[in-house]
Amino acid sequence: MLYKSAWRVAKLNNITQTQQFTLFFVNSLRIESSVMPNPSQTRKNLIILGVNPRAGTGKGTEKLDELVQALQDSGFEVEQTTDLRTLDAYVGAGQNTGKLRAVVACGGDGTVRLLVDRLGTKIPFSVFPLGTENLLAKHFGITTDVGKFCKILTSSQPIKIDVGRANGQIFLSMVSAGFDADVVRRLHAERTGPIHHTSYFWPVWKSIFAYRFPPIEIQVDGKKVEPGRWTFIFNLPRYALNLALAPDARADDGLLEIKVFDKGGFWNGMAYFFSVLFRRDGRPAKSRHLRGRVIELASTSKVPFQIDGDAGGELPLRVELLPEQLELLVPE
Ligand SMILES: [Mg+2]
Repeated sequence: MLYKSAWRVAKLNNITQTQQFTLFFVNSLRIESSVMPNPSQTRKNLIILGVNPRAGTGKGTEKLDELVQALQDSGFEVEQTTDLRTLDAYVGAGQNTGKLRAVVACGGDGTVRLLVDRLGTKIPFSVFPLGTENLLAKHFGITTDVGKFCKILTSSQPIKIDVGRANGQIFLSMVSAGFDADVVRRLHAERTGPIHHTSYFWPVWKSIFAYRFPPIEIQVDGKKVEPGRWTFIFNLPRYALNLALAPDARADDGLLEIKVFDKGGFWNGMAYFFSVLFRRDGRPAKSRHLRGRVIELASTSKVPFQIDGDAGGELPLRVELLPEQLELLVPE
């Protein structure tokens, strides 16, 4: 069975018998290591939970307690904190002793961004999705099922993904400038409590009547391209409400995917908005598609941008990929 699968891979890749044997050998080692012993018997058995204080209330608390219990039952040593300095101390100690298996961001995409920004990309991460939008977790199929989550931490090998920076702020999924960012800006300016999907209703309504789609100047890797009216930059293919806007975006190819809507005005804006909302094949009407590593956006008018669903400010905006990738533990 094992040899067969190795042989299939070998056949697909058209490689020699010696190489086939090596592949078989390497694969058996991999399978050997995926049947890992109890984490308490391995060296790397420390899990540090970086908890968003807001995620750690109500239902979140129960889930978190359940997670800690399950991790301990699986043989892990667990530290958890909502305080960033304490987190630094735990991570420092874990690295010194060589026991750190992973830091787990317990919260939404904002929590992941904050922790990656603080701790850098050299530490294996995972995310336990307790936020409103959990784009990263959804993309990789991570849920709050504690049994499945323990399995990820016990036996998954980390994958590597690109990480972006937008005006100095880390992002994992996507950045956009235009109508949706105007909605996000209103939502955050007017928010009084936790955000639910229904919280978007009034901000969307207001932006429909107030947002004028001013032109956005675009540069890709130092080259000026045609200006647009609404611009999305993707590292991962998903956006809010789980819309797969850029299905071709790959998080490990060292490139950002850019979608540009070209026409301005109320009716075009509405056509774009509804095509984004309802065309789930990821190819909204009349959009331009580009790729690059460094994208710069500017406008002579006030154009807001958003970063992984959080209000970012107004253009100009410089978006780039970091030279190094992040190690992420996801389901195998
Ligand atoms: Mg990419």
